Amino acid sequence: MAIDFILLRTDSDSHARLGRITTPHGEITTPAFAPVGTQATVKALDPRDLHELGAELILGNTYHLYLRPGADLVAEMGGLHGFMGWDGPILTDSGGFQVFSLANTRRVTDEGVEFRSHIDGSRHLFTPEMVVHTQEQLGADIIMVLDECAEPNDRAYNEQALARTHAWAERCLHAQQRTDQALFGIVQGGVFPDLRRQSAEFLTGLDFPGYAIGGLSVGETKEQMYSMLDITAPVLPEDKPRYLMGVGAPEDLVEGVARGVDLFDCVLPTRLARNGALFTRAGRINIRNAQFARDAAPIEDGCQCYTCRSFSRAYLRHLFKAGELLASRLATIHNVHFLLELMRDIREAITAGSLQAFREEFLGKYPIIPHDVRAANREKRKSRSASHSTTN
Ligand SMILES: [Zn+2]
Repeated sequence: MAIDFILLRTDSDSHARLGRITTPHGEITTPAFAPVGTQATVKALDPRDLHELGAELILGNTYHLYLRPGADLVAEMGGLHGFMGWDGPILTDSGGFQVFSLANTRRVTDEGVEFRSHIDGSRHLFTPEMVVHTQEQLGADIIMVLDECAEPNDRAYNEQALARTHAWAERCLHAQQRTDQALFGIVQGGVFPDLRRQSAEFLTGLDFPGYAIGGLSVGETKEQMYSMLDITAPVLPEDKPRYLMGVGAPEDLVEGVARGVDLFDCVLPTRLARNGALFTRAGRINIRNAQFARDAAPIEDGCQCYTCRSFSRAYLRHLFKAGELLASRLATIHNVHFLLELMRDIREAITAGSLQAFREEFLGKYPIIPHDVRAANREKRKSRSASHSTTN
């Protein structure tokens, strides 16, 4: 087995689990959040920062790395670990999510998905066999099957996509050659309970070493996402890790853990940081706002990150206003610390048997951004990167 998963404790008031995944590159204590290193770098941070922040798993994007610099080159340079100088566990996605977000330039058949590169317009074909081979070249500890990401509310499309996703999952299993990487299956099915259940049952039958829940946090409401987790998690085997893909809003980490999720990843903390949006337990602040111009306090009182121990809000605001590189780095350190610290608190609460109290206290203070505001932000991002993927 490429990875080993031990369940250390299950919460008596919820479906939360405390566990440990052992990989060829070290251990991950779960539930865990993985910062995203889209192009073999977690933007604005280096591996030393990530270790200091306590990151135990990071993510790389196959779509981006396949196009640039190319998986052959990465393999030649010692795989992703050697290439980027990160010796801890790495997870790569299959590239499917990015390709399916290139709505205008892709074509799906049972064979695979054909698309045009967002860099130079060149044509490429991702098949299940090919994405497994590419991820074997990249050399992450945890790799993903190719799946079809359908629009979550379209019933007919989800039925069709699910059949393809399941056939592709089997082909990925057969294509796998390396024995030191754990290939995870991906549950799809949009916002439809019966499809989600059917998908989780089918994939469980294929006996993957871990299971991802895909196709969520893509425009559906939070209630829909939570109810899909309520339906899916209990169908998945207890003794395998469960990974909720692309989810990283603080409230979703708390709610996901309570529903039995072990792993999360998202570009949210790093992308927000570069825009000057910073997490606090009382909600997000935008450091560019004039109210912080003469504010000598740290981003958040009591935060133990390097940024908060060393710098004021006034200084950070100045760095953003002046367009200084340091702004991105200091803001990213704080936001990544915030989510990793939240996961540490969650794990402690599970250990102490007090997750329910922690959940109520955290959610009582943290204001959730309304669905229509999130939807508008999503549209803005889409139109800004019209030809390009959503993950960066
Ligand atoms: Zn901080």
